[in-house]
Amino acid sequence: MQRPGADHEDMQVSDFLCDFCHREWDGQFPMVEGHQGSLICGSCLTIAYTETVLRNMNSAPAGTKCTMCLEERPDNMWMGEAGGAACERCIKQGAGRLHKDEDWDWKKPVG
Ligand SMILES: [Zn+2]
Ligand SMILES: [Zn+2]
Repeated sequence: MQRPGADHEDMQVSDFLCDFCHREWDGQFPMVEGHQGSLICGSCLTIAYTETVLRNMNSAPAGTKCTMCLEERPDNMWMGEAGGAACERCIKQGAGRLHKDEDWDWKKPVG
């Protein structure tokens, strides 16, 4: 997400926040973008991937819309500590992208 009230003509790195923990970006940790400027940081993605994909957990009530694809989906969903919900599909896509991104030392959690 972008910081509410941020100057769109003069965006700073710290105007970008993870939708799920609201941590400010400092350019030093990985972030993956979804639709509508939604963002998930590498740490949230690690927890989300572990819980939904590896442990088959669902922490969102039925009917919750995914913050990253804006769809209401039947898959497992993960909710961040500061808000936002991510569906398993978006988590897998984000993890796949970050896993392959050589700029970041981020790997998909394994069991
Ligand atoms: Zn985060
Ligand atoms: Zn989604």
